[in-house]
Amino acid sequence: MRPFQKNQSLREYSTFGIGGAARYFTEVTSIEELQEVLLYCHQNALPFHALGKGSNSLFDDRGFDGLVILNKIAFYEVEENLVSVGAGFSFSLLGVKTARLCLGGLEFASGIPASVGGAIFMNAGANGVETCDTLIETTFVNERGELEVLPRSGITFAYRQSSFHEKKGMIAGAKFLLTPYSVARKKQLEIIAYRQKTQPYGDKSCGCVFRNPEGQSAGALIDACGLKGKKIGGAQVSNLHANFIINKEGATTQNILELSQYVKESVKNSTGIELEIEIKIIPYQKKE
Ligand SMILES: Cc1cc2nc3c(=O)[nH]c(=O)nc-3n(C[C@H](O)[C@H](O)[C@H](O)COP(=O)(O)OP(=O)(O)OC[C@H]3O[C@@H](n4cnc5c(N)ncnc54)[C@H](O)[C@@H]3O)c2cc1C
Repeated sequence: MRPFQKNQSLREYSTFGIGGAARYFTEVTSIEELQEVLLYCHQNALPFHALGKGSNSLFDDRGFDGLVILNKIAFYEVEENLVSVGAGFSFSLLGVKTARLCLGGLEFASGIPASVGGAIFMNAGANGVETCDTLIETTFVNERGELEVLPRSGITFAYRQSSFHEKKGMIAGAKFLLTPYSVARKKQLEIIAYRQKTQPYGDKSCGCVFRNPEGQSAGALIDACGLKGKKIGGAQVSNLHANFIINKEGATTQNILELSQYVKESVKNSTGIELEIEIKIIPYQKKE
């Protein structure tokens, strides 16, 4: 096992560009390495945090009091329309590569700056498609470092939810069964072009802050309250997409949380609708 780094800043591991330092930090590049690290955490009662691309993670200003495990398991194999991929592989690149092979089902992934593991954990989705739609199997390493192969039927998924939220351990790999689709690449290019027009790609963010309430768009509700451009400290509601909060200039976690609270209260006061946070707020200390 490689030695853990100490006091690694988490800022560069979150697309928000915010966060203090991790007490310990390591990256894993193989399933065996992940098993070894999780077993070590178990034997030494060391709290750990699973990190993908950090595109949905708001770290605490104090950082994380434990071990952050960066998933870099990035194998990629295609056999006809079956794709086996490491959980640290780029979800966006997976969307591009499979579309280029005229395989349909993951075109929506292109432009989502996630890891495959993070996308499965969050059941990331767009354009009416979700990660779970083509997923057929997940390889998981539990908190004792043991390997579990979970068929799709053994995992529960819902809107931006999966049963992995209740499971201690880390997703190591996955299999997706795609469908031959001659215009997959054209569709994927349209998706990325639309994203670039409608989302603040050049800004530091974690994507949509709030879940869409049933049958409604959180972005439209926030926009209707006139909150585009609203700032607290270095945090700002994006002028392009109202459900994105961006780190405009040196924002702290506290700035993001206060602005989210302000948005939530404004929408509640004017519409009666209670918005729910989608991004993951990673506490400094894990509650056991
Ligand atoms: C510009 C932009 C656009 C976005 N567009 C979309 C979109 O269209 N649709 C959408 O759904 N989301 C979108 N997002 C949000 C984000 O990309 C997704 O939520 C994504 O699934 C997060 O993946 P990640 O690897 O970055 O996860 P991280 O932020 O690293 O982690 C998120 C959560 O997953 C857990 N996790 C990560 N990897 C593992 C693993 N291997 N095993 C177990 N748990 C793990 C973490 O512990 C954490 O709780 C967008 C974000 C940005 C910045």
